[in-house]
Amino acid sequence: MSGTRVAVRCGDCSFAATYDRLRDARTAVDDHESTTGHGVDWDIESLDAGVSRAGADAGVCGRPECANEDSPLVDHAPSEPES
Ligand SMILES: [Zn+2]
Repeated sequence: MSGTRVAVRCGDCSFAATYDRLRDARTAVDDHESTTGHGVDWDIESLDAGVSRAGADAGVCGRPECANEDSPLVDHAPSEPES
């Protein structure tokens, strides 16, 4: 796996960093949020746009309130039309 860059930026202080591994970025975000209580944004830059979308949809921190409810990856309810 290659070609992925994750830019992390805190909305509440000047904390910002770039990682080339999603796991490193997630660890840094979790650590900063748990330490400071700040809200950290991240942008996944990848050669594959689909990977970026999937990463964002997955939620940054794993808390339910962070999930993107508009995501097509989230199965809200059966979308099959009644027949
Ligand atoms: Zn911060």
